[in-house]
Amino acid sequence: MMNSIYLATEGEGVHLGTPQVFVRFQGCNIGCLNCDSKDTWEFEDRLGLSMDEILVQIHEKSNSGRIRRVSITGGDPLHPKNVPAVSKLARELKARRYFVNIEASGTRLVHEVFDSIDFISFDFKTPSTGVETPLESVKKLSEQYEGRFQIKSVIENEKDFDYVLGAAEKLGEFSFPWVLTPAFNLGELLPFERFNKIIKWNEKSGGLFRVIIQQHKVIHGADKKQV
Ligand code: SF4
Repeated sequence: MMNSIYLATEGEGVHLGTPQVFVRFQGCNIGCLNCDSKDTWEFEDRLGLSMDEILVQIHEKSNSGRIRRVSITGGDPLHPKNVPAVSKLARELKARRYFVNIEASGTRLVHEVFDSIDFISFDFKTPSTGVETPLESVKKLSEQYEGRFQIKSVIENEKDFDYVLGAAEKLGEFSFPWVLTPAFNLGELLPFERFNKIIKWNEKSGGLFRVIIQQHKVIHGADKKQV
């Protein structure tokens, strides 16, 4: 079930600034309170393309294969209804030597997908999302996918920051990148104050995290899609 395929420059996390083709799957029932992609929640195929047609679109959007990176996102690409297509797509892309990243919502570890791709961006959800990520999942990632994943947490307020800090302290020493994304909600202008506060809280508590704002929202505004 596909929502869209488009070329854009990564706007968040450790691959910030890297052009890639985004393959956005449709369908998500996780229900984050601050979701900025509610248009992806319905389980329906908006593009109606076969796998071969999807691969043709990726080739075209990647400037005939000159852009070598693909990011599989959603919606929830790891919902069981999407996993067979995501697995097949990942294998086809690897056979064509693309660098493949997946944006995982943090509710499922799907090894059949993780084992076949290059990088996993895994959400550790905060209280403001209303969704919980088991810390055990982060531990498993660090044991099995060292050097191939990042953790991302959206921070709305100090409660979110304290929650993530508590989780990181429980985990003990870690070397993977844990990115704090200042919430940049629909309809909001650049949240300077929130951004600055998170930077200060991080500095004060030992700098365990990387604070990175969503660059695409700085450039295009919080509401623009496919950028
Ligand atoms: S997992 Fe992603 S698409 Fe699903 S509700 Fe949460 S933010 Fe929205």
